Amino acid sequence: MMGTTIEHWVGGKRLAETGGRRAPVFNPATGQQQAQVALASAAEVSDAVQVASTAFIDWSQSSLSRRAKILFSFRELVNSHIDELAELITDEHGKVLSDARGEVQRGLEVVEFACGIPHLLKGEYSDQVSAGIDTYSFREPLGVVAGITPFNFPVMVPMWMHPVAIACGNTFVLKPSERDPSASMLVAELWQRAGLPDGVFNVVHGDKEAVDALLDSPDVAAVSFVGSTPIARYIHQRASATGKRVQALGGAKNHAVVLPDADLDFASDHLVAAAFGSAGERCMAVSATVAVGAAADRLVEAVSAKARAVKVGPGRQSDSEMGPVITQAAKDRIEGLIGSGAEQGARLSVDGRGLRVEGGQDGFFVGPTVIDEVTTSMDVYREEIFGPVLSVLRVQTVEEAIDLINANPYGNGTAIFTSSGDAARRFQRGVKVGMIGVNVPIPVPMAYYSFGGWKDSLFGDKHVHGAEGVSFYTRGKVVTSRWPEHQSGSAASYSFPTAT
Ligand code: NAD
Repeated sequence: MMGTTIEHWVGGKRLAETGGRRAPVFNPATGQQQAQVALASAAEVSDAVQVASTAFIDWSQSSLSRRAKILFSFRELVNSHIDELAELITDEHGKVLSDARGEVQRGLEVVEFACGIPHLLKGEYSDQVSAGIDTYSFREPLGVVAGITPFNFPVMVPMWMHPVAIACGNTFVLKPSERDPSASMLVAELWQRAGLPDGVFNVVHGDKEAVDALLDSPDVAAVSFVGSTPIARYIHQRASATGKRVQALGGAKNHAVVLPDADLDFASDHLVAAAFGSAGERCMAVSATVAVGAAADRLVEAVSAKARAVKVGPGRQSDSEMGPVITQAAKDRIEGLIGSGAEQGARLSVDGRGLRVEGGQDGFFVGPTVIDEVTTSMDVYREEIFGPVLSVLRVQTVEEAIDLINANPYGNGTAIFTSSGDAARRFQRGVKVGMIGVNVPIPVPMAYYSFGGWKDSLFGDKHVHGAEGVSFYTRGKVVTSRWPEHQSGSAASYSFPTAT
């Protein structure tokens, strides 16, 4: 192993090297290993959870004003470190710097949402529900909560979770992706500089061993997970088995429907950006276009021309529009799926395999790829490719498009391009999908709404951030209260109590 070692952050400090297991961290643009990351053992995870449990005793009692002040300071610090965070993301993930900055910005919006925690936690009060009796409700934090996150948004996805969880009075253990772990370390430092007490936000790096230790820990009250569907399903089952609250967001196959009445130039511009931005490694990337009727030929032509023009290069190069994919294994898998499309009868309109990138000969680059005449039985449609590959399917009506989308096991995001309000309305009411765009290709909700898909894209009841995030990270109490000294005649009864 080579390069610096990225260690865990527990109790407000980086832990010393323990000599345990390690995993390599690559720069995908060069294909070179640049660091190694510690992989926590079950015992190390247990220690981190104990630190977070101890910190919970005071943090859960901290006033709303104090929490809000720390959130505001954290907001300022993240805002003034956007460039540093973006560089860490680009060097380990590969996405271009402007895209990495956008990711931090979207994470920051959740911090801003959480700054309003005094308002978000306001309870209800009903005066005089019965003679001399009042009822009121309030919400309390859960305890230690864990976040387990994917490689593709190393700052934003954890920020869907920890600002809200911490603002609600919980303490947090983050297990970020072992492929791009560095940004979480800077985030931990920023929390500390914002005045967050040590032990409230902790980072343990690791793989399955660390994750399983979190899932099985009796001292972890809730688990938020974002990643692929098989792991999301596993996390949901295993964490639920020990009585935890779980939200497990999974993979996706996002369809964009294009009607013949759409502005095809506008639609193709947006489709290309949504399919190839971040090399297609977004859970809201458009990976399947459903062209309706006469839209198909003109759309494939326009999308293909634009795909060929995408500037692929290292993420730090200012003119790059699309960077590499995350690993050599991902590149091999994506290229294999492109090949399977051709073998199974689809037409490769643009083939991104074998792309040569100046200054990135050994990087994990795959060029933008457009596959036409794809059918729902092909692997290229059935698999979540998670790379820069756009499949085009052809149908004759909006209803057929809706049926096709609803037959897919995923239900994360979808979009429609049209100039017909009626078609858009039928579409938004008909699809079994959590997030819908109308002439908007990547409909990621703002932080004050909640983010989440349907079907195999989310296991559990609650979406992340927004009102559902606050609800997920808190438990409600309802108090029914009477102060009887000035009330005579409120006799006890053996019948079930009813209002008088
Ligand atoms: P992944 O499922 O491989 O890993 C996610 C996390 O789970 C990582 O922290 C990883 O260390 C851990 N993990 C991996 N294998 C495990 C195992 N066997 N047991 C326990 N833990 C394990 O996902 P990824 O490749 O990092 O990220 C890409 C996936 O995430 C895609 O499927 C993408 O669609 C999905 N994603 C979904 C959303 C969403 O909002 N629904 C958002 C971002 C990414």
